[in-house]
Amino acid sequence: MTSSKPDDDTTVIAIDGPSGTGKSSVAREVARRLGVGYLDTGAMYRALTAVVLAEGVDPADGEAVAERAAGLAIGIDTDPEIDNVTVNGQDVTEAIRSPEVTAAVSAVSAVPAARRRLVAAQRRLTQGSTAVVEGRDIGTVVFPTARLKIFLTATPAARAARRAAQLGVVEPAEIATLAEGLRARDELDSTRAESPLRPAADAVVIDSTELSREDVVEAILNAVTAHGRSE
Ligand code: C5P
Repeated sequence: MTSSKPDDDTTVIAIDGPSGTGKSSVAREVARRLGVGYLDTGAMYRALTAVVLAEGVDPADGEAVAERAAGLAIGIDTDPEIDNVTVNGQDVTEAIRSPEVTAAVSAVSAVPAARRRLVAAQRRLTQGSTAVVEGRDIGTVVFPTARLKIFLTATPAARAARRAAQLGVVEPAEIATLAEGLRARDELDSTRAESPLRPAADAVVIDSTELSREDVVEAILNAVTAHGRSE
């Protein structure tokens, strides 16, 4: 277990799944429509990774990564209208999306002590409020009794195409590189010992391969209604 259980996670809507499924934009939109908070936990692992890289720490050096995580003050807005991430007061909103951070984040997020720190922060950030929380282990570890758990999937080809469209990449060779990056990251995220990416037993699985973003948002809002909603 990563850390002590949250006091009350029944107001959380957990959205997990691999990269390129449209998870972030869908989760943010669901939060907007419901008028509740939104937490992108991937941004927190990315923020730690940006610090690790900036300080020249080897992402595979678990002890050094854990040390950086211990001293880290991550600021992240839970208002779905605001995309703003800081570490130790410095704005890293853009920096955490760099290809270097993307390539190193799975190694950093496999470090158990670092995960414990970030999970505790995720629980603090959403305490006492209703929120859509998005990541890899939200329904399984961070909020195991979340009101509703969604697991978003899509075929690898659809996910690579979506990521390419987001980044404006059109060259087939570059798309193939993107696809390989996604595959490698998923493999690390799904096979790590600590909190691997997998659907919770009680998750509602949505395959977004053939669905528009609006379709997925609607499907989740319908599931929220079906599961009842706390105010
Ligand atoms: O969601 P995003 O693609 O920005 O996440 C970046 C990385 O952060 C993931 O590939 C994964 O390694 C890590 N992550 C995690 N647990 C979460 C959210 C993200 O391990 N809850």
